[in-house]
Amino acid sequence: MKRVFSGVQPTGNIHIGNYLGALKQFVELQEENECIYCIVDMHSITVPQDPKELRKNTLDVAALYLAVGVDPSKSIVFVQSDVPGHAELSWVLTCNSYTGELSRMTQFKDKSKGRESAPTGLFTYPILMAADILLYDTDIVPVGNDQKQHIELCRDIAIRINNKYKKTFVVPDGRFLKAGARIMALDDPQKKMSKSAENIHSRISLLDEPSKIKKSIMRATTDSEGSIRFDAENKPGISNLLNIYSVFSGKEIADIEKDYEGRGYGDFKKDLVEVTMEALTPIKERFEEIRNSDELIKILRDGAEKANAIAEKTMKRVKDNFGLGI
Ligand code: ATP
Ligand code: MG
Repeated sequence: MKRVFSGVQPTGNIHIGNYLGALKQFVELQEENECIYCIVDMHSITVPQDPKELRKNTLDVAALYLAVGVDPSKSIVFVQSDVPGHAELSWVLTCNSYTGELSRMTQFKDKSKGRESAPTGLFTYPILMAADILLYDTDIVPVGNDQKQHIELCRDIAIRINNKYKKTFVVPDGRFLKAGARIMALDDPQKKMSKSAENIHSRISLLDEPSKIKKSIMRATTDSEGSIRFDAENKPGISNLLNIYSVFSGKEIADIEKDYEGRGYGDFKKDLVEVTMEALTPIKERFEEIRNSDELIKILRDGAEKANAIAEKTMKRVKDNFGLGI
């Protein structure tokens, strides 16, 4: 049995990219592994958050985990800031990583672009993420493609410390799905879909109203060629929509292309609205039920307790190996 860890930031409602890249894996993996799924609220404060909104988003993300099928009787579900080991280990890792390697992270470059001065936390974000993973002796990290570079850095730091001190950490592997690993923004298919992008029509959130889903898909950027075929390089917009259609419907892209031969983008988009709605409606219904029940807080408290018990053991080992404390 392998140990699995992953997290999502409560920076807004989970979108179909998060779902198809990460959450779908959470559900798959919990059948045969020991899974720990976290709502990483300390990551979200690397950019400014409204405190009330942050707490609401944290509970929304937790309820969405459960609504898509994460089962708290099989997996540990908790909020990052409820377990102090994340911040504690993060400092130890900070002292064993280099500004040069952090400067190469593309997420930092993207998120700090246009700012005169970026928060230090945005720069050290990958170290906190490494701490999240290493704290639980994680073997597998199910994430989207955009996190590949951060996983590599986490591995580098773990290997570096294992070589320099006594073997302290399990070196984890990322796990990426073939089809959903990188869902692109609907308004600009050169960028990945993101919770924190300004334009709400760049994404489809799992909790969007049908009218919003329709609007976002109908106005999605395509091209002027007018033929529905997959060509990620020359037709990134329509290729992204084909990919979304394929993962939600379970149909092969080649079969969808055949179905829409000679038909226009309008027809295809209308059907994509239907396919998307069919997939999201049951999730939304389950979300409403879970979000309004008293169970949710209980599940998160119980999860934090279990996570903390594992984290404390790791921190004891780390402190012993580093000669910290008495
Ligand atoms: P933010 O814009 O605030 O960074 P985000 O949409 O990138 O939000 P995260 O909380 O940073 O979401 O990431 C949660 C998980 O979703 C990660 O595993 C990440 O790799 C995955 N993910 C994020 N965006 C996409 C995407 N467009 N396609 C596939 N997976 C994605
Ligand atoms: Mg992100």
